[in-house]
Amino acid sequence: MTHFDFDLFVIGGGSGGVRAARIAAGHGARVAIAEESRFGGTCVIRGCVPKKLMVYASRYAGDFEDARGFGWETGTPAFDWAKLIAAKNKEITRLEGFYRKGQESAGVAIFDERVTLAGPQAVRLISGRTVTAKTILIATGGLPNVDRALPGVEHVITSNDVFDLTEQPRRIVVAGGGYIAVEFASIFAGLGSEVTLIYRGETVLRGFDMGLREGLMDALAARGVRLVMADVFTRIEKRAASLVGTTKCGEVLMADQILFAIGRSPNTRALGLEAAGVQLDAAGAVVVDAQSRTSVPSIFAVGDVTNRVNLTPVAIREGHAFADSQFGAKPWSTNYLNIPTAVFTTPEISTVGLSEEAARASTQRVDVYETRFRPMRNVLAGRAERTLMKIVVDAATDRVLGVHVLGPDAAEMVQMAAIALNLNATKSDFDRTMALHPSAAEELVTLRTMR
Ligand code: FAD
Ligand code: NDP
Repeated sequence: MTHFDFDLFVIGGGSGGVRAARIAAGHGARVAIAEESRFGGTCVIRGCVPKKLMVYASRYAGDFEDARGFGWETGTPAFDWAKLIAAKNKEITRLEGFYRKGQESAGVAIFDERVTLAGPQAVRLISGRTVTAKTILIATGGLPNVDRALPGVEHVITSNDVFDLTEQPRRIVVAGGGYIAVEFASIFAGLGSEVTLIYRGETVLRGFDMGLREGLMDALAARGVRLVMADVFTRIEKRAASLVGTTKCGEVLMADQILFAIGRSPNTRALGLEAAGVQLDAAGAVVVDAQSRTSVPSIFAVGDVTNRVNLTPVAIREGHAFADSQFGAKPWSTNYLNIPTAVFTTPEISTVGLSEEAARASTQRVDVYETRFRPMRNVLAGRAERTLMKIVVDAATDRVLGVHVLGPDAAEMVQMAAIALNLNATKSDFDRTMALHPSAAEELVTLRTMR
């Protein structure tokens, strides 16, 4: 019998990798993991977690304004960027330690270095050694895209840089219309920067329900974000302390920072995948089956590197399913139906299931229940912003196909609605659920107006 150094070698200590390594070790496998940067990966170090901390920071500005309507005198609030970044860094370092400890406690051998594939059952450590493993898991995540052909692209930053800026940009232009672009436009507007969002399409967040997309654009504009739609940068120059971006439609946008958020690509370059026989698709993603198997029997892949659904909980489930199936004799695969998602703008968007447009394209008769209202808190606060809720129903079966919310706590509501969708809930099931009063979520069970 061939002897291997390890039963499993995991490349990448992010969401998918750490879960797979810990669970496989728990099943008794001899496991190693390599991380070239910091444990926790994109989500913990330069993604979901620091982003959400900045979202919280950005919301205080509105809270201070709203507090006056409730009798508070708050003086003139002042924000200190350096203090926020230091507090955020402390928390990220704590979490990084927590993830490393989780691996150590599970008995996983840790390599703090870059590794590449040296064959179907071998990896090469950058320090020189070659290590063998019966099974290898690729969990190397993704990287932000930049438009390399754009003159002056060297002056732009990506989400990898934005969390560590030493100074808050007084003026920032964000390029893109996806999750990261709108989230950071909203964060910086809340923190008091002058924000412009430039997007090549007419309406941000392609793929989300159109009502929410339009509602969010109105809300962002009302909160001070300048929206430049149907336009792209053609050149960026540095002039003295300013960046000057010229656009296709002839706008000249001045900024202290220009953040590009135009998508991410699977991190597969120079990993030795092709040489080992691992098939990649046109976008460079590792091609896998439902069990996360690649074209090489001993090599598996999970998370963003496979470009299935690029969200942390999905990477974690894929890693867990892989480990249980391959090392725990408990085979299962990830369920991709009704994955809830949120865009953490202010106000936030959250959604599960089909948008109205997707439902109409796939189902013959669709009923749409919709409400727009001013949340209770906004009345005394003197804030005009409205919440939008939408339930998309298959008229033939009464099944709820999608739930969409734009407004405070949308993510918290939709996580719960996702359970109902997974149970194949009908609109009648929503209707016979008692309301919880006074809440915004109660609207989801009292909605009777069909559009
Ligand atoms: P990653 O977490 O990217 O981990 C891959 C790891 O592999 C990295 O640590 C990397 O250093 C390491 N690595 C790569 N190559 C090598 C190598 N050759 N050798 C050793 N180590 C290597 N998702 C959500 O669900 N909610 C959110 O709110 C959210 N916000 C986000 C905000 C931002 C700004 C970004 C960029 C992403 C966000 N995401 C969010 C997406 C989420 O971060 C990813 O889907 C998730 O991190 C994917 O996990 P992963 O394990 O596939 O990869
Ligand atoms: P997205 O795929 O969400 O959005 C990319 C945006 O960039 C789109 O608006 C796209 O336009 C635009 N774009 C693409 N190419 C170009 C180009 N060459 N020039 C100008 N614009 C371009 O990517 P993000 O970078 O925002 O985020 C990456 C992924 O990370 C997300 O898809 C999501 O999976 C995950 N994420 C999740 C978050 C969450 O759960 N809250 C938060 C942040 C990230 P068009 O639509 O017209 O193609």
